[in-house]
Formats: sequence, structure tokens, C-alpha cells
Amino acid sequence: MHQLTLAEIARGLADKKFSSEELTKVLLARIAQLDPQLNSFISITEDLALTQAKAADVRRANGESGTLLGAPIAHKDLFCTQGIRTSCGSKMLDNFKAPYDATVVAKLAAAGAVTLGKTNMDEFAMGSANESSYYGAVKNPWNLEHVPGGSSGGSAAAVAARLLPAATGTDTGGSIRQPAALTNLTGLKPTYGRVSRWGMIAYASSLDQGGPLARTAEDCAIMLQGMAGFDPQDSTSIDEPVPDYSASLNGSLKGLRIGVPKEYFSAGLDPRIAELIHNSVKELEKLGAVIKEISLPNMQHAIPAYYVIAPAEASSNLSRFDGVRFGYRCEDPKDLTDLYKRSRGEGFGAEVQRRIMVGAYALSAGYYDAYYLKAQKIRRLIKNDFMAAFNEVDIILGPTTPNPAWKIGAKSSDPVAAYLEDVYTITANLAGLPGLSMPAGFVDGLPVGVQLLAPYFQEGRLLNVAHQYQLNTDWHTRTPTGF
Ligand code: GLN
Repeated sequence: MHQLTLAEIARGLADKKFSSEELTKVLLARIAQLDPQLNSFISITEDLALTQAKAADVRRANGESGTLLGAPIAHKDLFCTQGIRTSCGSKMLDNFKAPYDATVVAKLAAAGAVTLGKTNMDEFAMGSANESSYYGAVKNPWNLEHVPGGSSGGSAAAVAARLLPAATGTDTGGSIRQPAALTNLTGLKPTYGRVSRWGMIAYASSLDQGGPLARTAEDCAIMLQGMAGFDPQDSTSIDEPVPDYSASLNGSLKGLRIGVPKEYFSAGLDPRIAELIHNSVKELEKLGAVIKEISLPNMQHAIPAYYVIAPAEASSNLSRFDGVRFGYRCEDPKDLTDLYKRSRGEGFGAEVQRRIMVGAYALSAGYYDAYYLKAQKIRRLIKNDFMAAFNEVDIILGPTTPNPAWKIGAKSSDPVAAYLEDVYTITANLAGLPGLSMPAGFVDGLPVGVQLLAPYFQEGRLLNVAHQYQLNTDWHTRTPTGF
């Protein structure tokens, strides 16, 4: 039963082949048995899951239907869940029980989804390896010595290991697409403003966006349907009608113009990944797509710009964690300054402290113009590059990551080496565009992802291309040995 996708679960529940309670029990047992190898969960919410599953079964018995009604999922542990620890992967919030549900959590629960738990993540969503969690590193089910990617690595590892069919994640610079690529999943970062950020603990507010990780594009469509929509409680939420994403899956790709940026195939890209990307291009050509080389000339400035803007926003967002209002407080503070200093010094890990310092520096008087303002100008140039490209093509295609999953510890002493892994993903966040990663093959037994980018609010187009690709390839069906 653990092999079923969300779409198959919906059919099985509708046909009364099994109940949500039965399925939930199977998956909870699987998590208890296998998760100790992966460390993909911070909290397992067994009581909540069983209550929600029984309630979903009652709703179905009373004639209600819906693809998410009774479907087991998990939330990245930065979505607030009422009365349940919401740790953000940090010692700072180890004792924090959220007083309310995030909009995403509330919407999925209202649709009948069953929450099995809260997944592990890089501390405050800062990272690409899931090694910076207070709760320990997450392991990649494809090779337990390798990272699953980050920062939504717990969600990715759990779904890839068939502990559950889908989970939520957030993507500030790639944290849905990159772990999806490294664990053989399909992951979608929606347009900025498509999914409410209310109750999603902020890392960099102008970049953060929630979205789904699942095994197929079809399942991402189901999840996104449950997550997307205008929320008056989030001032950056956009009041655009939500289309029927599942209905968009079956469009023909005949004549679809796919742009492949020449800058993507530079020296930093593993040549074996380049070859798999070219294979996926050929596959889409067979389905009728027309390929065009394009250029994104400002791409090389994206990493420096992002690693100024994201830490700048983080330094501001994380100032609220002061030992007074939220979370961890140090023992026996001497005075107020000591309370602030020690609570933050003891509550935050090294990477979070590094980002706060970089961000505060970039925002300080005298450096603001040189770093922050400059980075914002680059951000505009990057957006302009995309706008020009989308005048010529419908979709942009390239690798999701320059390398497959690396060994745990291999980059942890060199933050810049880890930052470079974000080269293909962060531009979509800087521009606010939707992006999707889907399985495209393997290198040394480790999964490789291909990334698709589309114009604003064209999530349906991304899902359509990915679904058609998945109907004609079987990379996404491969299962890691032992799971
Ligand atoms: N790896 C990037 C960072 O560390 C992106 C993280 C994310 O998307 N949350 O900032």
C-alpha cells in the first residue's frame, strides 16, 4: 500500500478498497520501522493522524468526495501546526507549540488530508544539504551516506522512501526543487504569491514560497490544488483564480517552445548531468516540443545577489527570536543584554548565525548601497532576462543542480561550495517565477533532476509538461533499494 501515489490512493479510497485509517496505520508503522535510518521526521503526529483519518472515513461514508480526503501527508516543520511543536529545525524553537495553523495546513486539513508528522529541515530553511538541523542530518534513501538536499530534505527523504505519498516544502532559493532532484521526486515551487505564507515561519520573505513534493506531476497537481489560493492574511498573496491543475495535465506538447539557456552548460555542470538533460530535451522533442537556444546573460550574478538579499531579510525576520517572546531562553541571564546575547548565541546554530551577521552587515549604514541596493538592482536584471526569454519561449529547461547528492559532511566546512549548488534554482526565486524539478535519470546510482521554469501563474503548464514526460519515461517510478 505504501507504493501508492496520491492519485491511486484517491481512487482506492473512493472504490472502498481500503480506508484512510487502514492506510494511515500502515504508513505510521512504516515510519516507525524505517525512519530511524533516515531521520526525516522531527515529530510524528500519530494521534492527530488517526483522528483525521477516522474523520475522513466518516466524511466519505457520508457521501463526500475529494482527491485529498483521507490522503496521508506531512508538513515541513516550519508550517505552524496548532498545539504541535513547530521547530523550524532549530533549538530556538524546540519548545515552541504553534498557537494556530498556517493557512496551508488549515487548507489541506479542510480538504481532508491526514497529517502524519512534521518533517526535518535545515535550521530556519537555510541550507542545501539538511545537515544544519538541530535534530541531526537527514539521510538520502538512495544512499544513506549522502545528503538528501535541503532545506526540505526531510519531506524529500520521507516521500522518496515511500513513507508517505507527498509532503509540503518551502523554496526560498531551491529548497523544494533541489531536494526533489536529489531524491528522484517531482517538486514544484509556485509563483510568489500563489500559496499563502501566513503561518509559514519566515526565512527571506520576498523569496519564500510553499509548495509540494511528491513522486509524480499528477500528485503535485493534487497537492497544489489544496494549497493555492488568495489569503487576505498574507499581504503578498495574489488574488488570482486557482485553475484546475489536474485538468491541465493532458494538454498536447505539440509546438510547445522550450528554451534551453546556453549559460546553464558551463564548466560547473557535471557532464554526466548535462547528458541526461540533453536526453530529456530529446524526449520532449519527440512529444512535439520545439527547442530553442536562449540566453540569460545576468545569471552569473544570481548567487552573489541572493546571498546578500536572503541573509538581509533573514537578519530582520530572525530578530524576533530574542529569548523574550519566542522559544529558547538562556539560563540565569545577568541582565537584558546578556539574555539577548546568550539566548540567540545558544539557540541558533552556526549557519543561522553566519547569515544573520552577513545580513546585518549588508544592511548597515555605509554598506547598504554597496551590497543590498546593488543586489536588488541585479535582481531586476535577472527578472528582465526572464521576461525577454519568455517573449520567445513557453518553458525554460535545464538542470536543477550542477551535481548529484554529495556525501554527508563533504561541503559542511565550506559554505560557499554549498551555496554554488543553488546556481540553477535561485534565479526563479529572485524573479518570483514558478519552477518544477522532475526525475531525469541517474549518475552513480544517484538521482538527477531536470528543471522547468514558466511565466507567472503558469504552474499548470509546468505540470502538463512534466506529466507528459512522465507518461513517456519511467525515471520517476524507480524506488531506492531497501525502501
Ligand atoms: N540553499 C538556499 C539557502 O541556503 C536555499 C534554501 C531554501 O530555499 N530555503 O538559502
